[in-house]
Amino acid sequence: MQAGVQGPQWDLTSEYNNTDDPKIDADRQAIDAHLAKIEGLNSSLTGAAGEALIEPAQQVFKLNEEVSRLVGNLSTYASCRLSVNSRDEAAQKLQGGLKNVIKRAGEAAEPLSQFTLLADDELIEKFLADPVIAPARFITLHRRARRHELLSLKEESLVHSLASDGIHAWGDLYDQLSGTLRCDVLLGNETVEMGIAEAAGLLQKPEVETRKAAWQAINESFSEHEEACAAAINAIAGWRLEMGKKRSTTRPVHYLDAPVHANRFSREVLDALMACAQEARPLAQAAAGLQARAYGETCIGPWDVRAPAPGLADAAARSIPFTEACDVIRDAYGRVDGSMADFVQMMIDNRWVEGTVADNKRPGAYCTTFSRSRNPRVYMTYTGGASDVITLAHELGHAYHSWVMRDLPDSQRSYGMSLAETASTFGETVVRNALLERAESPAEKLGIVWEEMSALVAFVLNIPTRFEFETRLYDQRAQRPLRPAELCELMESAWSKWYGDVLDRPDPMFWASKLHFYISGLSFYNFPYLFGYLFSLGVYSHREQMGDQFFPHYVDLLRDTGRMSASDLAARHLKGDLCDASFWRASIDQVRPRVKAFEQLLDELSM
Ligand SMILES: [Zn+2]
Repeated sequence: MQAGVQGPQWDLTSEYNNTDDPKIDADRQAIDAHLAKIEGLNSSLTGAAGEALIEPAQQVFKLNEEVSRLVGNLSTYASCRLSVNSRDEAAQKLQGGLKNVIKRAGEAAEPLSQFTLLADDELIEKFLADPVIAPARFITLHRRARRHELLSLKEESLVHSLASDGIHAWGDLYDQLSGTLRCDVLLGNETVEMGIAEAAGLLQKPEVETRKAAWQAINESFSEHEEACAAAINAIAGWRLEMGKKRSTTRPVHYLDAPVHANRFSREVLDALMACAQEARPLAQAAAGLQARAYGETCIGPWDVRAPAPGLADAAARSIPFTEACDVIRDAYGRVDGSMADFVQMMIDNRWVEGTVADNKRPGAYCTTFSRSRNPRVYMTYTGGASDVITLAHELGHAYHSWVMRDLPDSQRSYGMSLAETASTFGETVVRNALLERAESPAEKLGIVWEEMSALVAFVLNIPTRFEFETRLYDQRAQRPLRPAELCELMESAWSKWYGDVLDRPDPMFWASKLHFYISGLSFYNFPYLFGYLFSLGVYSHREQMGDQFFPHYVDLLRDTGRMSASDLAARHLKGDLCDASFWRASIDQVRPRVKAFEQLLDELSM
């Protein structure tokens, strides 16, 4: 890599000077003291009844917030240090020491959590009357929306204690299995043995033979363990269905209730969302077809879902030094509003971005925020590709989201997964358009538009494929466990339904190779991605419609993400109805001309 391309080292000293900073010890001691107080108060919280509960509950709430703030600050610090140097022993010790603290804090918070769920409405109103607690109204009432599912205290604690060797053990088994599985990838004339993660990395290589060989090897390996995977997926789904039945005493509980609630929207919104995906399917299939054409093919294989732009784009791309990337992002953000440009400049001036290239650095990119100062940090390895510029824009979008919420109470600063990508995708879109404008050749443009097309295909075809499979799995599992062959069949038909003729062949073992189906704490880890994608495009489309009025609404929308349902947010700030197909259609209409432009680009490049 050329000198001067990589990004700067970040500065964490606004939080702690080093791992031996006395502030760390002071924070740990403060946590211990707060926890001891909470544990003392808990006896009155479990022993008392009626109005006598309110005061201890309020005190515990305030202490809890303080504990979370301090624990959050320390663990963010430790993980930031470990990202840059995974062998940082002092940071490892700090993080290790926090594990017990986190467990203790979790247990100490349980009685309050029971109170906020079980107390009657009148008591809750009195609890929320305290001005410090009042901002927690939305999250408190939101959690209470599923109160009707609660079992008796005894039953809940029995379920909780059995879960670790029940549903979670199946998730752990899968993690163990997929983490230790080896596979044989045929590379050229040589068979190379490697772990699944390494083979999955090959799915992003530009050579189709490599991708195909990696895909085949991964599938063979999972096929050998199909019985174990089937046992796990059947048990996980079975556990949830059985729990749903047991929780259906006052009204029926559906397997989609929990994931929809966690994302803070409704079944009607989910239906409108999936209907939109259905409508957009031909467009996404066309995009996939064009991607195949760029590779000289007529259809794509399941090994192509993460394929990069063909080599041509790579060769044309010149590397963009970090400072130049910052200029591009600052200018593009500034076109939305001057204060957004100032924000980017502040992140750079404060050295709140880590972008160096170094050994021992963990891969990936993320944004995090210190819970005490509320100062964000962006982490990545910046090497100068256009995709790095877009990644930086994406993470700065997250940082901006956090920044505009920095003065809000803690209880209003966390938001569901479906809204988490709003500001990041928005920032990404703004900067991608800026990069396209400055691209000097069609080949250079190809790399940028390619990613946009891949996103369309991933969100509108791949995500619904997973959703389709998972719903049908639950429906059928309600009768009996499914055999591996039946799971393959379900998976194949889901692929065929969504991809249609543009797919060379389905990916029958995807039910086993996709980790998301085995997350024991969370079901349907798929539709929130589609929601996030279309919602952020919807926000972007309002930028054009609303002109000068857009920016204040945008900031207010971001600020409300932690204290409103997604539907209320859209109604208030975008005058949109998430249950109405036309809201989602506007998002797809944004992408339609891009697919056309992609086709023209291929024409220009004679691909
Ligand atoms: Zn993100």
